[in-house]
Amino acid sequence: MWQDLMNEVRDQQALFDIAVRDWIAGYALKQGTIHCGKGCHACCSLAVNCTFTEALAVSTSLADRHAAALADHAAKIRSAAFAAPDFPSFLRARRALGGCPFLDSDGACGVYNRRPFSCRSLLSTKESRWCGADFSTLSREEKQGFVESLDQSVAAFPMHYVKATQDLGQDFESCAAGRMAETFGFGLYGNLPVLVFLEREHRLSETAPKGADAVREQVARAGCNHPFLITFSP
Ligand code: SF4
Repeated sequence: MWQDLMNEVRDQQALFDIAVRDWIAGYALKQGTIHCGKGCHACCSLAVNCTFTEALAVSTSLADRHAAALADHAAKIRSAAFAAPDFPSFLRARRALGGCPFLDSDGACGVYNRRPFSCRSLLSTKESRWCGADFSTLSREEKQGFVESLDQSVAAFPMHYVKATQDLGQDFESCAAGRMAETFGFGLYGNLPVLVFLEREHRLSETAPKGADAVREQVARAGCNHPFLITFSP
Protein backbone atom coordinates (compact mmCIF):
# COMPACT_ATOMS: atom_id res chain seq x y z
CA MET A 1 0.00 0.00 0.00
CA TRP A 2 2.70 2.45 1.01
CA GLN A 3 4.72 1.70 -2.10
CA ASP A 4 1.70 2.64 -4.26
CA LEU A 5 1.23 5.90 -2.33
CA MET A 6 4.92 6.75 -2.61
CA ASN A 7 4.88 6.02 -6.35
CA GLU A 8 1.90 8.37 -6.73
CA VAL A 9 3.70 11.10 -4.80
CA ARG A 10 6.82 10.61 -6.95
CA ASP A 11 4.71 11.01 -10.12
CA GLN A 12 2.94 14.06 -8.69
CA GLN A 13 6.28 15.63 -7.73
CA ALA A 14 7.51 15.17 -11.31
CA LEU A 15 4.38 16.95 -12.59
CA PHE A 16 4.81 19.66 -9.98
CA ASP A 17 8.44 20.25 -11.01
CA ILE A 18 7.33 20.75 -14.62
CA ALA A 19 4.71 23.29 -13.48
CA VAL A 20 7.35 25.13 -11.42
CA ARG A 21 9.81 25.21 -14.33
CA ASP A 22 7.06 26.59 -16.58
CA TRP A 23 6.21 29.22 -14.00
CA ILE A 24 9.86 30.32 -13.71
CA ALA A 25 10.17 30.49 -17.52
CA GLY A 26 7.02 32.62 -17.73
CA TYR A 27 8.29 34.92 -15.00
CA ALA A 28 11.63 35.30 -16.79
CA LEU A 29 9.76 36.42 -19.93
CA LYS A 30 8.35 39.25 -17.81
CA GLN A 31 11.90 40.10 -16.65
CA GLY A 32 11.29 38.47 -13.25
CA THR A 33 14.15 36.67 -11.48
CA ILE A 34 14.09 33.67 -9.17
CA HIS A 35 17.23 33.61 -7.04
CA CYS A 36 17.23 29.93 -5.99
CA GLY A 37 20.07 27.64 -7.09
CA LYS A 38 22.05 24.55 -6.12
CA GLY A 39 23.99 25.05 -2.89
CA CYS A 40 21.82 27.94 -1.75
CA HIS A 41 20.25 26.69 1.46
CA ALA A 42 19.25 29.85 3.30
CA CYS A 43 15.61 28.67 3.46
CA CYS A 44 16.57 25.22 4.81
CA SER A 45 16.43 26.33 8.43
CA LEU A 46 12.71 27.08 8.12
CA ALA A 47 10.30 24.59 9.68
CA VAL A 48 9.46 22.20 6.82
CA ASN A 49 6.13 20.39 6.99
CA CYS A 50 4.87 17.63 4.71
CA THR A 51 2.59 14.62 4.48
CA PHE A 52 3.68 11.36 6.02
CA THR A 53 3.89 9.74 2.57
CA GLU A 54 6.47 12.34 1.48
CA ALA A 55 8.45 11.81 4.71
CA LEU A 56 8.33 8.04 4.16
CA ALA A 57 9.82 8.53 0.69
CA VAL A 58 12.65 10.57 2.25
CA SER A 59 13.16 7.94 4.96
CA THR A 60 13.51 5.06 2.50
CA SER A 61 16.27 6.83 0.59
CA LEU A 62 18.21 8.35 3.49
CA ALA A 63 22.00 8.09 3.36
CA ASP A 64 23.84 7.01 6.54
CA ARG A 65 25.38 10.48 6.96
CA HIS A 66 21.90 12.02 7.21
CA ALA A 67 20.45 9.26 9.35
CA ALA A 68 23.22 9.80 11.91
CA ALA A 69 22.27 13.46 12.38
CA LEU A 70 18.54 12.83 12.44
CA ALA A 71 17.82 11.66 16.02
CA ASP A 72 19.69 14.57 17.60
CA HIS A 73 18.04 17.09 15.30
CA ALA A 74 14.55 15.65 15.88
CA ALA A 75 15.11 15.77 19.66
CA LYS A 76 16.05 19.46 19.43
CA ILE A 77 12.98 20.29 17.32
CA ARG A 78 10.81 18.38 19.81
CA SER A 79 12.26 20.36 22.74
CA ALA A 80 11.77 23.62 20.84
CA ALA A 81 8.09 22.80 20.22
CA PHE A 82 7.34 21.95 23.85
CA ALA A 83 9.22 25.02 25.12
CA ALA A 84 7.63 27.52 22.71
CA PRO A 85 4.71 29.59 24.06
CA ASP A 86 3.27 30.07 20.56
CA PHE A 87 3.87 29.09 16.94
CA PRO A 88 5.96 32.17 15.92
CA SER A 89 8.26 31.45 18.90
CA PHE A 90 8.61 27.85 17.73
CA LEU A 91 9.49 29.02 14.19
CA ARG A 92 12.20 31.31 15.59
CA ALA A 93 13.56 28.53 17.82
CA ARG A 94 13.54 26.12 14.88
CA ARG A 95 15.52 28.60 12.81
CA ALA A 96 18.08 29.01 15.59
CA LEU A 97 18.79 25.25 15.41
CA GLY A 98 20.39 25.76 11.99
CA GLY A 99 20.00 23.85 8.74
CA CYS A 100 17.94 20.82 7.86
CA PRO A 101 19.62 17.51 8.85
CA PHE A 102 19.40 16.43 5.20
CA LEU A 103 21.71 19.17 3.95
CA ASP A 104 25.06 18.09 2.57
CA SER A 105 28.33 19.83 3.45
CA ASP A 106 28.36 21.67 0.10
CA GLY A 107 24.99 23.24 0.96
CA ALA A 108 23.04 21.05 -1.48
CA CYS A 109 19.93 19.11 -0.49
CA GLY A 110 20.94 15.51 0.25
CA VAL A 111 17.44 14.21 -0.53
CA TYR A 112 16.82 16.45 -3.52
CA ASN A 113 14.87 13.94 -5.63
CA ARG A 114 12.65 13.04 -2.66
CA ARG A 115 12.28 16.48 -1.06
CA PRO A 116 8.67 17.35 -0.22
CA PHE A 117 6.31 19.73 -2.00
CA SER A 118 6.92 22.44 0.60
CA CYS A 119 10.62 22.56 -0.37
CA ARG A 120 9.89 22.31 -4.10
CA SER A 121 7.38 25.14 -3.93
CA LEU A 122 9.58 27.72 -2.19
CA LEU A 123 10.91 30.09 -4.85
CA SER A 124 12.63 33.27 -3.78
CA THR A 125 12.03 36.53 -5.65
CA LYS A 126 14.81 38.17 -3.60
CA GLU A 127 18.49 37.45 -2.91
CA SER A 128 19.25 34.60 -0.48
CA ARG A 129 20.19 36.93 2.38
CA TRP A 130 16.49 37.66 2.71
CA CYS A 131 15.68 33.94 3.06
CA GLY A 132 17.98 33.75 6.07
CA ALA A 133 17.03 37.12 7.56
CA ASP A 134 15.66 37.43 11.07
CA PHE A 135 12.99 40.05 10.46
CA SER A 136 12.49 40.59 14.19
CA THR A 137 15.95 42.21 14.30
CA LEU A 138 15.34 44.65 11.41
CA SER A 139 14.53 48.29 11.97
CA ARG A 140 11.17 49.68 10.91
CA GLU A 141 12.81 51.41 7.93
CA GLU A 142 14.55 48.20 6.84
CA LYS A 143 11.28 46.26 7.01
CA GLN A 144 9.48 48.98 5.07
CA GLY A 145 12.22 49.02 2.42
CA PHE A 146 11.95 45.25 2.08
CA VAL A 147 8.16 45.31 1.70
CA GLU A 148 8.32 48.13 -0.85
CA SER A 149 10.88 46.19 -2.90
CA LEU A 150 8.61 43.15 -3.31
CA ASP A 151 7.06 42.22 -6.63
CA GLN A 152 3.56 42.19 -5.22
CA SER A 153 2.14 40.67 -8.40
CA VAL A 154 3.76 37.32 -7.51
CA ALA A 155 5.05 37.38 -3.91
CA ALA A 156 3.18 35.86 -0.97
CA PHE A 157 3.00 39.30 0.60
CA PRO A 158 4.55 40.31 3.04
CA MET A 159 7.12 37.59 2.26
CA HIS A 160 9.21 37.30 -0.89
CA TYR A 161 8.42 33.70 -1.83
CA VAL A 162 6.24 33.06 -4.87
CA LYS A 163 2.60 32.63 -3.91
CA ALA A 164 1.43 30.66 -6.96
CA THR A 165 3.90 27.79 -6.47
CA GLN A 166 3.21 27.64 -2.74
CA ASP A 167 -0.54 27.45 -3.43
CA LEU A 168 0.01 24.74 -6.01
CA GLY A 169 2.28 22.82 -3.63
CA GLN A 170 -0.46 22.90 -1.00
CA ASP A 171 -2.93 21.49 -3.52
CA PHE A 172 -0.57 18.60 -4.29
CA GLU A 173 0.01 18.06 -0.56
CA SER A 174 -3.75 17.91 0.06
CA CYS A 175 -4.03 15.34 -2.68
CA ALA A 176 -1.30 13.18 -1.05
CA ALA A 177 -2.96 13.55 2.37
CA GLY A 178 -6.32 12.61 0.84
CA ARG A 179 -4.87 9.46 -0.72
CA MET A 180 -3.46 8.39 2.66
CA ALA A 181 -6.85 9.05 4.26
CA GLU A 182 -8.60 6.97 1.58
CA THR A 183 -6.17 4.10 2.20
CA PHE A 184 -5.87 4.12 6.00
CA GLY A 185 -8.84 6.19 7.21
CA PHE A 186 -6.72 9.11 8.39
CA GLY A 187 -4.07 11.51 7.16
CA LEU A 188 -0.85 12.42 8.91
CA TYR A 189 1.04 15.66 8.42
CA GLY A 190 3.92 17.24 10.27
CA ASN A 191 7.49 18.39 10.60
CA LEU A 192 9.71 16.63 8.05
CA PRO A 193 12.67 15.58 10.26
CA VAL A 194 10.31 14.51 13.06
CA LEU A 195 8.21 12.38 10.71
CA VAL A 196 11.32 10.79 9.21
CA PHE A 197 12.66 10.14 12.73
CA LEU A 198 9.34 8.53 13.73
CA GLU A 199 9.48 6.25 10.73
CA ARG A 200 13.09 5.20 11.17
CA GLU A 201 12.98 4.74 14.93
CA HIS A 202 9.35 3.73 15.47
CA ARG A 203 8.19 2.31 12.11
CA LEU A 204 5.05 4.44 11.94
CA SER A 205 4.22 3.08 8.48
CA GLU A 206 3.79 -0.41 9.97
CA THR A 207 1.38 0.91 12.62
CA ALA A 208 -0.75 2.95 10.18
CA PRO A 209 -2.91 -0.04 9.04
CA LYS A 210 -4.04 -0.41 12.69
CA GLY A 211 -5.63 3.05 12.56
CA ALA A 212 -5.21 6.60 13.78
CA ASP A 213 -5.49 5.79 17.50
CA ALA A 214 -2.63 3.30 17.33
CA VAL A 215 -0.46 5.85 15.52
CA ARG A 216 -1.43 8.57 18.02
CA GLU A 217 -0.32 6.33 20.88
CA GLN A 218 2.98 5.62 19.17
CA VAL A 219 3.60 9.31 18.48
CA ALA A 220 2.85 10.09 22.14
CA ARG A 221 5.18 7.32 23.36
CA ALA A 222 7.93 8.84 21.20
CA GLY A 223 7.34 12.21 22.88
CA CYS A 224 6.25 13.92 19.64
CA ASN A 225 2.60 14.53 20.41
CA HIS A 226 2.53 18.28 19.85
CA PRO A 227 0.46 20.24 17.30
CA PHE A 228 3.57 22.11 16.06
CA LEU A 229 5.07 18.72 15.16
CA ILE A 230 2.28 16.35 14.13
CA THR A 231 -1.34 16.77 13.03
CA PHE A 232 -3.94 14.18 12.05
CA SER A 233 -6.80 14.53 9.58
CA PRO A 234 -9.72 14.45 9.05
S1 SF4 B 1 14.69 18.54 2.50
FE1 SF4 B 1 16.33 19.47 1.26
S2 SF4 B 1 15.42 21.35 0.39
FE2 SF4 B 1 14.10 20.69 2.08
S3 SF4 B 1 14.82 21.83 3.90
FE3 SF4 B 1 15.90 19.82 3.88
S4 SF4 B 1 17.85 20.20 2.77
FE4 SF4 B 1 16.45 21.95 2.32
